[in-house]
Amino acid sequence: MNYKALAERLLPGQYPALESYETRYPLRNLPEKAEVTRLAPSPTGFIHLGNLFAAIANERIAHRSGGILYLRIEDTDLKRKVDGAVEAVIKALEYFDIRFDEGAEIGGDETYGPWYQRQRAEIYRAFVKHLIEEGRAYPCFCTEEELSRLREEQTARKEVTGYYGKYAKCRGLSEEEIYQNLDAGKPFVIRLKSMGDPEVKHTFHDEIKGDITVHENDQDVVILKSDGIPTYHFAHAVDDHFMRTTLVIRGEEWLASLPIHIELFGALGFPLPRYGHNCSLMKQEGETRRKLSKRKDPELSLEFYRKEGYHPRAVKVYILTLLNSNFEEWYLKNPEAPLEEFKFTAAKMSKSGTLFDLDKLSDISKNELAKLSAGQMRDFLKTWAEEFGSEAQKAYFSDEEKLLGALTLCMGIGGKKRRKDFTTASQAMELLRYFFERPAEFEPYRVEETVKHALLVGFLKTYSPADDAQTWFAKVKEVAAENGFAAEMKDYKANPDAYRGSVADVAEVLRIATTGKANTPDLWTIQHILGEAEVRARIAAQL
Ligand code: GLU
Repeated sequence: MNYKALAERLLPGQYPALESYETRYPLRNLPEKAEVTRLAPSPTGFIHLGNLFAAIANERIAHRSGGILYLRIEDTDLKRKVDGAVEAVIKALEYFDIRFDEGAEIGGDETYGPWYQRQRAEIYRAFVKHLIEEGRAYPCFCTEEELSRLREEQTARKEVTGYYGKYAKCRGLSEEEIYQNLDAGKPFVIRLKSMGDPEVKHTFHDEIKGDITVHENDQDVVILKSDGIPTYHFAHAVDDHFMRTTLVIRGEEWLASLPIHIELFGALGFPLPRYGHNCSLMKQEGETRRKLSKRKDPELSLEFYRKEGYHPRAVKVYILTLLNSNFEEWYLKNPEAPLEEFKFTAAKMSKSGTLFDLDKLSDISKNELAKLSAGQMRDFLKTWAEEFGSEAQKAYFSDEEKLLGALTLCMGIGGKKRRKDFTTASQAMELLRYFFERPAEFEPYRVEETVKHALLVGFLKTYSPADDAQTWFAKVKEVAAENGFAAEMKDYKANPDAYRGSVADVAEVLRIATTGKANTPDLWTIQHILGEAEVRARIAAQL
């Protein structure tokens, strides 16, 4: 067969010499051992936790080694493209402080761009043409119907599905048949002519999983679709080579495609980058573990963390804990250190399923938020509220003094021990509500209506905003005693039947009347922050 003539017929025209690409995309001028890593999402508009795990690993490895992290958009499958998806990826990752050095919508060194695969059609076709000339690729005229029939037959016979071996019908077409099909104007795709044998197995060193066994590929995969656009498999091999990628950390769902990628790199004459396949994220459900699912688990979407207002450092700390087995110990010793100082390595990444647990993340979040100053907390909440808060919540920030007072109290700043009341921005804003809005709902009072009434009236009579905490409490005790409650806890404990309750029950009534809640930080301070008029108005409204 005259492959050269066939290649010209299939992809007519002059393409640059292949060597010219090696010069156009030279080896990067980086220090020895610097890693070039990438994130290569499809612009589907859905960016998930798995992407963030891979992004953090790739970012850490690139930047710790003095290398480059770039963003490539794998948009060969137009059906999946969503407007604004690239900006959404960048924004979602920026929240976690993942910054790309170059890439789509980022810019940077233009040498290796463009970073949208659709803008790189020429280079892919040049290499496809070369493979046809060498007899390593061929046109396939099979229709969708023929292919789905083949799949059905294979499934019925419990055979591996796909286009391979004896099933690769068009692989055996004669020169005459090919030209007849072309003359008849039949649409075609270009397939790789695989030389592999799945019975043959090799040891492959995965940077995360260690040595694994990989069988050879025998699938004649499509490399160029009928519209002249390459498939992901083909495009990513060309791009990883010419963008000079040294290390690919990606999800283990790609492990199944590794044999194809190994063969493609070989056929193209490119050295393989190193690969590390990251474990899937699992969720514990009762006794069983299952993969996190887009449909069932909102926490799979990165949008969830921004919307709920998880502090990015908390999410990062948790992910680093899951990604590198020695991170937790390091962090215990260095709780204040910038996370960049941790020596992240692919080799320490977990080899089997990673359990992702929102409760664990919430614990870490509480600890991280408890490290912030009141000012830092205000800034964090403000950024969240500007995007996700209600109008009422946005207004909290116009009374700076009140907000800082409330935060200082709720975070236990200046106290013996920091309080850990806050988990996320949305939850913190909800907790802060009673400082800024009159409560609309009240937890149940645990005393009779007449008793409650008497206690509130008694309190209002003696209440003075000038009282310090001690004087205030002494007055509450008096109101307690006047209404049959023990002023001292020890008296109540010694003889509970002699009283209606204790001063603690009285304080609870005042607390609910002031805030709507039975549990809050120090009530004297809350009333102090609210001011006399507001305290009187709230209590009066409960009479
Ligand atoms: N475009 C692929 C994805 O959507 C990237 C796979 C890879 O990293 O090689 O995840």
